[in-house]
Amino acid sequence: MALKVNEIFYSIQGESSYAGRPCVFVRLTGCNLRCSYCDTQYAYDEGDLMEINDVLKRVATYKCPLVEVTGGEPLVQKETPYLIHGLLEAGHEVLLETNGSQDIGQVDKRCVKIMDIKCPTSGEGGKSDLKNLALLADTDEIKFVIGDRGDYEYAKKILDSMARTPSGVCLAHLSPVFGKMDPGLLAKWILADHLDVRLHMQIHKTIWHPEKRGV
Ligand code: SF4
Repeated sequence: MALKVNEIFYSIQGESSYAGRPCVFVRLTGCNLRCSYCDTQYAYDEGDLMEINDVLKRVATYKCPLVEVTGGEPLVQKETPYLIHGLLEAGHEVLLETNGSQDIGQVDKRCVKIMDIKCPTSGEGGKSDLKNLALLADTDEIKFVIGDRGDYEYAKKILDSMARTPSGVCLAHLSPVFGKMDPGLLAKWILADHLDVRLHMQIHKTIWHPEKRGV
C-alpha cells in the first residue's frame, strides 16, 4: 500500500505539548483547505508515492521514538490510518496533526490527535468538523491559531461549549499567527479571561529562520 509523501525529516518538535522533543516528521501531500497563513503550501501537490513499508524503514533510520504525521492534511489520503497503525506497531509514539475536517474516528486510538480548529481569519473558519471533538480522548490536544480578537472570541466560544463534554478535559493551545498577532496581547486576553489554555509559540520558528523548510 502506498501514499504520497512530501518529505520525511528529523527535527525538534515545535508545536503542541511535545514541543522541544526530537521528532521525525512524515509530511504527507495534499490538503483540502487553503488557510490564509499556511506555511506549507509546498505540500499541496509536491511529493512522491512511497510504500508504507518504505516509510516505516526510513523513519526507523532516525532511531527516534516520537513521530508526527502531518501535512497538508494527512487524512485526505485514505491510506494514512494504515501508516499510523504501522508506526504504532513499530513501537513509536505517534502524533497526528489534523485540521479536523475529516473523520478522526478512523485513526487508531493510541495515536495522539492534535486538532487545529480553524478560526475565521484563516479563511477556512467552520471547516473543522466539530463533531470530531466528541471523539477526542484526554490525551489528545486542540489548537486555535489566533489572528485577531474575533478569532479569540470564536475559540473561547468553542472552549466554553467543550467544558460540558468529556473531551473538555483535553489540552487546548492558543497560538498567535506568526508575524501578525502580538503574542503579548494574546497573553493579556487569556489572563483577563482566566482561560485554562496554553499560550503556544512555534519554537521551530525561533530556533531556525521562520521560512526554513524541513525543520
Ligand atoms: S490545513 Fe494546514 S496545510 Fe492545509 S491550508 Fe491550512 S495550514 Fe495549510
